[in-house]
Amino acid sequence: MVIVMGPGATREHIDALVDLVTSAGGEAYVTRGVSRTIIGLVGDVRQFETLDLRAMPGVSDVLRISVPYKLVSSENQPGRSTVSVGGVPIGGDNMTVIAGPCAVETPDQTLESAHMARAAGASLLRGGAYKPRTSPYAFQGLGETGLKILADVRAETGLPIVTEVVDAADVDLVAGYADMLQIGTRNMQNFALLQAAGEAGRPVLLKRGMNATIEEWLMAAEYIAQRGNLDIVLCERGIRTFEKATRNTLDISAVPVAQSLSHLPVIVDPSHSGGKRELVLPLSRSAIAVGADGVIVDVHPTPETALCDGPQALVGEDIPQLAEAAATLSPLVGRTLTAAPEPVGAGV
Ligand code: PEP
Ligand code: MN
Repeated sequence: MVIVMGPGATREHIDALVDLVTSAGGEAYVTRGVSRTIIGLVGDVRQFETLDLRAMPGVSDVLRISVPYKLVSSENQPGRSTVSVGGVPIGGDNMTVIAGPCAVETPDQTLESAHMARAAGASLLRGGAYKPRTSPYAFQGLGETGLKILADVRAETGLPIVTEVVDAADVDLVAGYADMLQIGTRNMQNFALLQAAGEAGRPVLLKRGMNATIEEWLMAAEYIAQRGNLDIVLCERGIRTFEKATRNTLDISAVPVAQSLSHLPVIVDPSHSGGKRELVLPLSRSAIAVGADGVIVDVHPTPETALCDGPQALVGEDIPQLAEAAATLSPLVGRTLTAAPEPVGAGV
């Protein structure tokens, strides 16, 4: 069950509802959104049936939600959500491109990648400082040094930062630098990490687990939402199948399916799906055409020396081609390509 508070609801109204629900033996989780506050109720619905929740002051609606993911469900919120990342929107009528290196390696490589990202049509910069690598011998990321490089590049280019956090203990540190926290495929069901991210006060990019069903993915998002954060963007990044020609199989149908089940924006990662540079543009086009709210793409100034995922990084002529695909295809599906924030100091 979800209680939707009206626009005039006060803190006292919310506290009174939480007290009522807890005294009836249930649990109440408050999520404050930009335009409204909702209270998710956990417990046996029969516990709540005797309570006259609708009559409580400040309440606008009480919804019985039939699916297990209550807060992120489209039953809870009609219409599509828009998530703001450092002022850049994802969702609604926007098509948002996120681009950058797989991993932050050096200040120059990150700055050059940010210029490439902007030229590719991106309004947000991606880059990992904490890398969840399959091999313990592979480059694990620069850690906080990498976060500082990202913050410097943001100051110079104006592009807000999306970066991965792999450990619940690092969430506050990463949130101190990042505009959006990324939770990767390997951590989609790291419930302690999801809960910590839900309390960090930053929007979250939640990648689909490579072996996860769409329902499991939405339940993972629910862990974040339940901790009070509904600023979540889902990312389809390919799933494991028997097919070996690609790194993962891009489940393009997951985009409209997740968009029908949930109000959250859904973007696609064509780089980690295909795993090959030459597949990134065709998969990006398919993502835009199917109605994705954005794409997140790897770029690198020198992919041949990249410490992580060089073979899938766009470079050279790929960059204007991605920009052109995003600019020309977006209006065909009723979307506007999100403009990048002006570089700091520009136009003065
Ligand atoms: C990434 O985006 O850098 C990454 C590691 O992706 P995934 O979690 O989808 O493998
Ligand atoms: Mn990668």
